[in-house]
Amino acid sequence: MKDKKIVLTGEDASCQATVKTTSVVLTGDRPSGNLHIGHYVGSLATRLKLQADGGYEIYILIADLQALTDNAHQPAKVKNAVLELMLDYLAVGLDPKHVHFVLQSAVPALAELPMYYMNLVSQARLERNPTVKNEIKTKGFNKDVPVGFVNYPISQAADITAFNATVVPVGADQAPMLEQTREIVHTFNSLYGATLVMPTAMLPNKSCCRLVGVDGNGKMSKSLGNCIYLKDDAVTVEQKVRQMYTDPNHLKITDPGKVEGNVVFTYLDAFYPDQKHLAELKDHYRRGGLGDVALKKLLAETLNNLLAPMRERRAYYEQHLDTVLNYLRAGTQRAIEVTNETLARVRKAIGIFQL
Ligand code: ATP
Ligand code: MG
Repeated sequence: MKDKKIVLTGEDASCQATVKTTSVVLTGDRPSGNLHIGHYVGSLATRLKLQADGGYEIYILIADLQALTDNAHQPAKVKNAVLELMLDYLAVGLDPKHVHFVLQSAVPALAELPMYYMNLVSQARLERNPTVKNEIKTKGFNKDVPVGFVNYPISQAADITAFNATVVPVGADQAPMLEQTREIVHTFNSLYGATLVMPTAMLPNKSCCRLVGVDGNGKMSKSLGNCIYLKDDAVTVEQKVRQMYTDPNHLKITDPGKVEGNVVFTYLDAFYPDQKHLAELKDHYRRGGLGDVALKKLLAETLNNLLAPMRERRAYYEQHLDTVLNYLRAGTQRAIEVTNETLARVRKAIGIFQL
């Protein structure tokens, strides 16, 4: 690891923070259920690529404090999802030799930093956050939204800055979160001097942003029950694919079929490795003569090829839960050290009374 001067932004040229770092990546998930193939295209594939590229210090945060912000009445759901998430991570190929797995609630600095950042953000600004606004609506909170939930962008800012993250891979829906973090960094550094590292968003490439659910309605999402999970067995995947909606006017094999909006093709676009062959299949389907059964068989095979090695790794780790826990303990221990350094810098910059 080498000393690196982190330049904030143009207008922040007067406040630059120097910390020991390579490119630091922070990413993570709320433990609220298992990961699905939407997560694979939307975030896990990027993490695997960053891991394979090397040259990054990668922290993967299991954000259980954040999951509690809208699951306070069902803490067991959050607790039980922690190990499931670890199993999903290891199954997909994230490797503790290259990434640090961190349990948010076990890192005290992540709970203290928001106490300082909260004073730098107005309530009106929080309520304007489009991601949060949308989530409050879809979760049906109305005026009963928990304070912790509205506040979670500040908690995310704490997570990102605590690790001195320079790169934050985000889904398009999460971009406003990073904007909030950048604002907090700017305000903090302007007020208390160069202390926090300015992070940059890494957005997924457009074509792979958002995978629709197996029902074709909106995005694949745990809470909508329209997912193919990474842990689904081969038969379950075949069943889910068989039930997929295609083109309702494609009744006979000889009928011309519609490719656009056809969920089976959307999935083949995302997962079928031979895009040239896929273009031929699309032409064939449009002309007529290619049946849904054959197409669905191809899709089920494609998905099962992707998921088979994940199932194998998961089965291994399910038999070695102590090892899984030790990976989480080791990553969390490292996180405690790094984030305590940031916390000390923050307390010093503000000028907290030292006992
Ligand atoms: P919930 O139903 O609880 O909201 P979810 O299944 O939508 O869960 P999230 O935890 O909200 O999953 O997703 C976390 C991140 O994973 C998103 O910000 C996005 O980057 C990625 N992601 C989730 N679902 C998809 C999807 N269908 N397509 C692409 N990316 C996705
Ligand atoms: Mg969601």
